[in-house]
Amino acid sequence: MNVQPDLSFIKYLKGAGGDTLKQCYQCATCSVTCPLSSDEKPFPRKEMIWSQWGMKDNLIADPDVFLCHQCGDCTTYCPRGAKPSEVLGAIRSYAYTFYGWPAGLAKLATSAKNLPILIGIPVIVVFVMWLISGAMHIPSKEVFAEHGYHEFFGHWGFKWYAKNIFFIVLIMLTSAAIACFSLYRGLTKLWASMSENAGISSTYRPSAPQFISRFLWPSLVEIVKHSRFRECGTNTNRVTGHLPLMLAFIALFIVTTWSLLKNDIIGLFAPSWIGPMHIWDPFKILANVAAIALLFGIYVLWTNRTKSEQAGDSSKTFYDWFLIWEIAAVGITGLGAEILRWLNIPTLGYIVYFCHLVAVMMLFLYLPYTKFAHIAYRTTAMAFEKFRESAFGKTAVEG
Ligand code: SF4
Ligand code: SF4
Repeated sequence: MNVQPDLSFIKYLKGAGGDTLKQCYQCATCSVTCPLSSDEKPFPRKEMIWSQWGMKDNLIADPDVFLCHQCGDCTTYCPRGAKPSEVLGAIRSYAYTFYGWPAGLAKLATSAKNLPILIGIPVIVVFVMWLISGAMHIPSKEVFAEHGYHEFFGHWGFKWYAKNIFFIVLIMLTSAAIACFSLYRGLTKLWASMSENAGISSTYRPSAPQFISRFLWPSLVEIVKHSRFRECGTNTNRVTGHLPLMLAFIALFIVTTWSLLKNDIIGLFAPSWIGPMHIWDPFKILANVAAIALLFGIYVLWTNRTKSEQAGDSSKTFYDWFLIWEIAAVGITGLGAEILRWLNIPTLGYIVYFCHLVAVMMLFLYLPYTKFAHIAYRTTAMAFEKFRESAFGKTAVEG
């Protein structure tokens, strides 16, 4: 086999936490100890040798790279300290940038050096929106007590549409739309590359309902149950951090959807529905419980990561920490804004709420390029794994 190593790719991996990859001597202990690796398709030994050889194209189209749950079992048992879990993390980080769109934004989100710009973009957007909205004032205690943050962007209507909601929807939906389009492009490219590498032609394609019921839905069930995380041997408390975090995001998604429905749709016909939720509103309670679960989950993951770095099992990378910081910022500012509303302190409340909007926009906008992208890429790889093992994959390969 004539291997053309991609030296810049190797350099990237070394700088992104995979600096130990050259220590691997191919003993395959990692593939044996990995709880997610199968006898038929073992990993991560082959990924280690591909990384040493700089075989970028193989790696970014390798479902096993995305199936890895970064449990660290392989790193614990590696006799050479080659840290395969970190190398796989570095490959995923590269892949998210590679598949990301627009390329400039994707590249920006890879380095701590760009943090001022990464924070500056949403700060400017939210601030300019605040200027355009004409709100530009801190409310009195009486107004704040009654309306909370619902007049952050002012209180006149944009035609028949409540202006405050209009601006939040404009900022967040635009960010989410960019992220969704970027993920759609990235995932379709990944699927095509994985199929090509596995020798699966597009002749035998499942219909959309078949794809959802046979491959996507079972993968989602596995993710929600955390079945694969529970197989981790050395870092068993990863579930303790990851599960509440995931449930918190699901709960916050439900609350946000309800809030949009209440304010943006029902509120158009029944204006009395527009406004902040009462503290004892079931959705408000759900949001507050979710915020606490989110902070608890991120605390566990934060301490796990710190301990792992102190023990020398993982490297301190921007890729890992950026997501932890982002989620912590969303949780702290969200809960902080809520507490300041209860305490009726408008000035500080508005500042913290501003920071909360910035943190949420960052989470949405940079989702496809940061570690957060694993929710989409891992799900896709899990669906592909089931697809590859099904009659669709086998027929195509044999055919
Ligand atoms: S990464 Fe470690 S355990 Fe895996 S093959 Fe290389 S030396 Fe062996
Ligand atoms: S980190 Fe865990 S899941 Fe990933 S390759 Fe290593 S043992 Fe397997």
